[in-house]
Amino acid sequence: MHIKPKKRLGQNFLKDKNIQRKIIRGCGVSGEDIVLEIGAGTGDLTAELALVSKDVYALEIDRHLIPLLEKNVAHLANCRAIEADILKFDINKFIRENKINRKIKVVANIPYYISSPIIEHLIGYRDKISAIFLTVQKEFGRRVVAAPGSKDYGSFSCFVLYYLKPKILFEIKKNSFYPAPKVDSCFLSLEVREEPPVSVKNETMFFKLIRSAFNQRRKTLRNSLEGVVAQERLEEFFNAHGIDKNARPEELSLEQFAGLNNFKN
Ligand code: SAH
Repeated sequence: MHIKPKKRLGQNFLKDKNIQRKIIRGCGVSGEDIVLEIGAGTGDLTAELALVSKDVYALEIDRHLIPLLEKNVAHLANCRAIEADILKFDINKFIRENKINRKIKVVANIPYYISSPIIEHLIGYRDKISAIFLTVQKEFGRRVVAAPGSKDYGSFSCFVLYYLKPKILFEIKKNSFYPAPKVDSCFLSLEVREEPPVSVKNETMFFKLIRSAFNQRRKTLRNSLEGVVAQERLEEFFNAHGIDKNARPEELSLEQFAGLNNFKN
């Protein structure tokens, strides 16, 4: 490779062809799909995606990589490189300008350092996206898909679950990348929900409640929600739902957090 990978941009290029194929298969992209690829790098995955989808728009922040990316996809008429930072990229404007009239799929083999900001940014455009496929650090993936009761379950699991259906598709060993990162990864599928799985009266309050609950996860909810939910209301809710009065945040499901948020509110 003639380029010097930049650590600060999370440049770990996928060199394992097998994993590349698994990613393409995992995304389930078909001939009608419009794909927005984030962090296209030198365009290896981009070219493969272009072969199976209708159009691929390949976002890359590093302008030094753009010429190489363009060269690698030059033979593909349905593929375009865009120099942009995903976190500043306005997907509504992009969809308008390119006259895209269906929900897009987002594919990002861009490990680690901006996984959660990317997910949060994309959730902001959820009405335009059908699914997101993302390489993440293995531990991060576990947190995303964690179920109540597990040590990985936290406010981010709840946030994701409210908007998306997360699933770990497979693991990717660190030596599949060049240069190899310090940790193993996994490939996540995040299907965008049409509707949240629970109905919530006030989303801002709901997420504030969840964040406060998990703020000090070793504390009981009674303690961590002091000042957020009136103690009598909390006690009444626990009684009504058979929840132990000393329950800790990881014991509550998304449904129960929603129930608490809506309870007598
Ligand atoms: N997808 C390629 C490259 C992976 S490395 C492959 O599979 O080999 C991750 C890439 O994301 C790098 O090229 C890096 O420059 C790019 N990147 C990092 N931050 C970005 C951002 N905020 N927006 C768009 N691209 C970004």
